[in-house]
Amino acid sequence: MSNRNISDLHPPSRILLGAGPSNVHPRVYQAMMAPILGHLDPDFLHIMDETKDLLRAVFRTQNEETIAVSGTGSAGMEAAVANLIEPGERAVVCVAGFFGDRIAEMASRYGAEVTRVEAEWGRIIEPEAVEAALKAASRTKLVAIVHAETSTGIHQPLDDIVRLTHEHGALLLVDAVTSLAGCELAVDDWGIDACHSASQKCLSCPPGTAPLTFSTRAVDALRSRETKVRSWYLDMTLLDNYWGGKRAYHHTAPMSMVYALREGLRLVLEEGLEARLGRHQRNGQALRAGLEAMGLTLHAQEAYRLPVITTVRVPDGIDDLKLRRALLYEHNIEIAGGLGPLAGKVWRIGLMGVASSAENVLAVLAALEQELSAQGFRLEKGAGVAAADRALGEG
Ligand SMILES: *Cc1c(COP(=O)(O)O)cnc(C)c1O
Repeated sequence: MSNRNISDLHPPSRILLGAGPSNVHPRVYQAMMAPILGHLDPDFLHIMDETKDLLRAVFRTQNEETIAVSGTGSAGMEAAVANLIEPGERAVVCVAGFFGDRIAEMASRYGAEVTRVEAEWGRIIEPEAVEAALKAASRTKLVAIVHAETSTGIHQPLDDIVRLTHEHGALLLVDAVTSLAGCELAVDDWGIDACHSASQKCLSCPPGTAPLTFSTRAVDALRSRETKVRSWYLDMTLLDNYWGGKRAYHHTAPMSMVYALREGLRLVLEEGLEARLGRHQRNGQALRAGLEAMGLTLHAQEAYRLPVITTVRVPDGIDDLKLRRALLYEHNIEIAGGLGPLAGKVWRIGLMGVASSAENVLAVLAALEQELSAQGFRLEKGAGVAAADRALGEG
């Protein structure tokens, strides 16, 4: 038998500073070893209830309809779109990166008439452009936007867009996959109607669950649908009968993933949301200072740069893949390359959840300095680390 030659499983323990997954907290791994229960065991149902409460605290919402979708961030995104769109309805989707484009693609597959509001990859969506799209159409059901565009490093302001969306009687869907627990987000105070996230970015869990919350307005829209939700697996009404209500079997919950999420959320609240956001802010700032001091150019529009993922341009004459390989194999650090039009043009350095540490900032800068120098890039030795160190001291 050939599999006799396959050894025990020993994947390396990497420092994950890419676009997600990020490093998993040891307590989350520990939680995943807890015994599996029946999917309707009262003890498991209780754990689901606790997870919902923790999710509400981290999303900063009172929304009854707050669950973890079984699946990755895209499953959360697809659940939001599938439930809030009926064939023929209009959706305005903001596209300034890879994930905005994914939402637009999903909305059109669920039968929406999609109007794309576009911006260059690396710039924010301007509220005026959203307003123009809303005015141009008779009736818009849904406006969708990405809060933290992981492909560009842009931190999208939402206040004007929420207001405009509601003035036009539409619902606002926000992709908070990379912002939840890493950037400020207040679902209720900001008036967001639907918001999805993922376990493997700033929550320090493995990929596999997608937090999702619906406001009462979103639930009303769901209840007054004329057609059935086209996805059976992601039908929020059926899912809610398992996560709440009748506790009816729908699908077998991935218990270990729910345990992981529950522990990840507990860690967020233990640290405190404000302290956690402060930590991400500080480390993001230090990384940017270090990169600029090394003579590199940040890609995202100034004043709208995310603390949790930084895009930096690949300098002329530097081999992108070779550098990322060297970081991985020589320094045990993963960073991400660019997506779509930014492929080969930028690196994306994530500082998410437990991986957002001063130690990792200094480690990635030192590794970058060494590998850039090895490829002939001229820089002042030690300048990046020194600038980051200074910024950390000030923060
Ligand atoms: C990672 C990511 C997603 C997709 O999540 P998957 O877990 O890969 O399915 C969606 N939106 C944003 C902004 C992301 O960063």
